[in-house]
Amino acid sequence: MNENTGILTINVAAVAANWRAIAAHAHPSITSAVIKADAYGLGAAQIGPELYRSGCRHFFFATLTEAVSVRPLLGDDAHCYLLGGVPVGGEADAVRHRLVPVLSSLSAVERWLRWRVESGLSATAAPAALKFDTGMTRLGLAAGELEQLLADEARWLALSPVLLMSHLAVADDTYNPQNKRQRDAFFALGGRAKQLQPGLLLSLANSCGIYLGRDYHADLVRPGAALYGFNPSPESASPVSGVVRLTLPVIALRTLTESASVGYGAEYGGRKGQVLAVVAGGYADGLHRVLGPDGYGLCRGVKVPVVGRVSMDSAVFDVTAALAGGSAWVDGERLTIEVINPDVLTLDVLTARNQALGYEVLTSLRAGRYRRIYQAEAV
Ligand SMILES: *Cc1c(COP(=O)(O)O)cnc(C)c1O
Repeated sequence: MNENTGILTINVAAVAANWRAIAAHAHPSITSAVIKADAYGLGAAQIGPELYRSGCRHFFFATLTEAVSVRPLLGDDAHCYLLGGVPVGGEADAVRHRLVPVLSSLSAVERWLRWRVESGLSATAAPAALKFDTGMTRLGLAAGELEQLLADEARWLALSPVLLMSHLAVADDTYNPQNKRQRDAFFALGGRAKQLQPGLLLSLANSCGIYLGRDYHADLVRPGAALYGFNPSPESASPVSGVVRLTLPVIALRTLTESASVGYGAEYGGRKGQVLAVVAGGYADGLHRVLGPDGYGLCRGVKVPVVGRVSMDSAVFDVTAALAGGSAWVDGERLTIEVINPDVLTLDVLTARNQALGYEVLTSLRAGRYRRIYQAEAV
């Protein structure tokens, strides 16, 4: 059975091309790839290995579970980090799968060191990364706590983290002075740590942080969103290209013979003569995030607006303009509406239009009942 569902096409080759463009820009810093949350919903098992083949050797996951399933698909020399740290009792699993937890509090540091001593493992056998806070106030040691650790040289060397990182809170806001404040705070303490431990890698920049300038790159950059097509330099033309296309099949078409309300709440007043297309795909497929208020799609290349509320499994578009002028639809003909297009209806366009966070638009597709097609050929 070939069920009539939407088709989500993910251009894996374009993700790899985006990674290479970012890596060229960030050179000589190391460019990693953030593939947490199943590569922002697009498929870490497909995207991770393709990036590895492109030369990426540092990967960031959020949880132990997601990393364990993808780790075997990456080469042995890949460095895999757990941004969410390691759960109590998960330490041995993390080490067995060669996953490096990012420790983000003093208590996590204490627990890791205690576990390592009890397990008789050295810092090399069970490596950890360390995160400190410079203004995000989410995960990370407070600056004072890091200073405390650095003041005790023996303790610092016992921990010997492989990576010291922090995270920018407003990197998408190019001229916000908080960026420079965070950068200076980061390098002040990062520099001290590097004096104690010269091989330590320092990392600050996410996608937007990379395009704030070289002075944000440190040793390793951590792009996520830009890999998947979001413009990381909002002030200029995008250095990356779109990777996602979402096409929904029309499952019913009707021409209104008189005016009628459309959808739940009867909020939309349809007019006589209007041609309405019902597509498979609704809010259970993340479409309310994709379309937002005043959403539209492309039918035969023509802009067609959503009418009425998006339902759980379906949405209605006014396709009158697309089917006008002698291009009427014949029964049995396959008709589709594109709601994400890598060139025209890009994630940046959708984000600007519906005021949802772009990351939400993307990750909301994850639950969708879509047939996925992975394109590996270069375009
Ligand atoms: C998610 C995440 C990133 C990637 O951020 P983007 O804005 O998607 O590039 C980088 N670093 C940390 C700590 C993150 O949590």
